[in-house]
Amino acid sequence: RNQALWQLRERYVPRGVAQAHPVFAARAEGVRVWDVDGREYLDFAGGIGVMNVGHGHPRVLQAVRAQLERFTHVCFQVTPYEAYVRLAERIAHLAPGDFPKKTLFLTTGAEAVENAVKIARAYTGRPAVVALTHAFHGRTLLGMALTGKAAYYKQNFGPFAPEVYHAPVPYPYRGVSVEAALEGLEEVFRTQVDPEQVAALILEPVLGEGGFIPLPKAYLEAVRELTHRHGILLVADEIQSGFGRTGRMWAIEHSGVVPDLLTFAKSVAAGLPLSGVVGRAEVMDAPRPGGLGGTYAGNPLACAAGLAVLDVFQEEGLLERARLLGELLWDGLLRLQARYPQVGEVRGLGPMVALELVKDPGTKEPASELATRVLSEARERGLLLLKAGMYGNVVRLLVPLVAGREEVEEGLRRLEEALEAA
Ligand code: PLP
Repeated sequence: RNQALWQLRERYVPRGVAQAHPVFAARAEGVRVWDVDGREYLDFAGGIGVMNVGHGHPRVLQAVRAQLERFTHVCFQVTPYEAYVRLAERIAHLAPGDFPKKTLFLTTGAEAVENAVKIARAYTGRPAVVALTHAFHGRTLLGMALTGKAAYYKQNFGPFAPEVYHAPVPYPYRGVSVEAALEGLEEVFRTQVDPEQVAALILEPVLGEGGFIPLPKAYLEAVRELTHRHGILLVADEIQSGFGRTGRMWAIEHSGVVPDLLTFAKSVAAGLPLSGVVGRAEVMDAPRPGGLGGTYAGNPLACAAGLAVLDVFQEEGLLERARLLGELLWDGLLRLQARYPQVGEVRGLGPMVALELVKDPGTKEPASELATRVLSEARERGLLLLKAGMYGNVVRLLVPLVAGREEVEEGLRRLEEALEAA
C-alpha cells in the first residue's frame, strides 16, 4: 500500500513539498506510528516537534471530541467563545515576564511570526526587523525574508519582503564566538540599518531548522541590553523550542532573559493547527481593531486541544519528565559521539538535542549524505528521525516528552545501528 500511495503522491503532489520518509502513516499512539503496511516506528521526529504530549493523548482526544459536539467554527471575530479566552489567559500567565500580557491566536507558525512583526511595527512606528543568519521563521513572504537559511527555503522565490537584516549566530562549533556574533550585530547597526529604525529583533533561543544551536545566556543578555538601549522589541520565536521541548516551558527561560513578544505554535495544540503571539499587553494592543485575526485563527477545536495540553503538562509533570528525557538522550548521544568520529558535536538544550555529523573531525567538513543515510537506515530499523542545519548534516531528535525509558533506550539502540550501517 505504501508503494501505491507513493505513486499517487508523485503524480498529484508537487515536489516542492519535501518528504523525510516515504512511509504513509496509518495510525499513531504515544511515541509510536504505524504505516499503512502495518510496520511500527518509534517517532523521534514528533511531527516536527508538534507531539510533545505524544500521539492520541486521551485527555486531548476527549477535549476535542467534546468541542466537536458543541461547534467546530463560528469565527472568534464574529462571536467569541470560551476556549479562546481561557487559553489566552493561561498562556499569558505562562509566558516569561512579570507584567500584564495578552495572547493572540493564529493558525500556523509563519503567521505567528508575521503578526509579531506587524505588532512590533505598529507599536514602535519603525520599519526594520533584524533576524539571525541561520534562522528559520516560516515559508510566507516575510517568514522567508526573515529566514537566514537560504537553500530551498528561498531559492527562486524572491523578491523578498524589504527592511529585513541579518546578524550572525553565535556558533562556536563553526568558529563564531559570542563576542564575534555581537560584533556582527553591532556592525549591522553601523553599516546597514540605523538601530533607531528597527522595530524588532527576532531570534530562536535554540535555533531549530538551523541545526539545534542554543543561544548562550551571555549572548541573549547582551542582545537584551542592546535592544533595550535602542527601543527595539525582542521577539523570541519559540515555535520549535517552546512547550517543554528544552525541559522548561520556554527555552528562553534558561537564560533569565525576558522578551517583549514570544511566538508559539507546534506543540501548543498537539497537532491541531494553532499558533500565537503572547507578550506585553501595551505592545499587543498597538494594532487597531480589525488589524489582527483570521477566519480560522484560534479555531475552537484547536483551543480546546490547547487547554487539554496544558492540563497534561500539569497533571503528568511533563516538564520534569522532559528534563529526565533530556538526561537520557544526552547520555546516549555522548556515548555515540565517543564511539563514532563522524559525530562532530552533540548539541542542544535538554531533550532538544542533535548530532552534527562531519566527514572528518579535523576539518569538520559537513557530512550531509551521511545524515541522509543515517535517516534511511534508522527508518529501516523502525525509527523516524529528522535532519536540520545549514548543510543538512544535523540529525535532530524531537522525541515526544511522554516517552518512557525503554522507548528511549530502544530508539538510541536503533540510532546506533543506523550509524554503524551508514
Ligand atoms: N519558526 C520556527 C522557529 C519554526 O521552527 C517553524 C517551523 O518549523 C516556523 C517558524 C514556521 O512554522 P509553520 O511551519 O507552522 O508555519
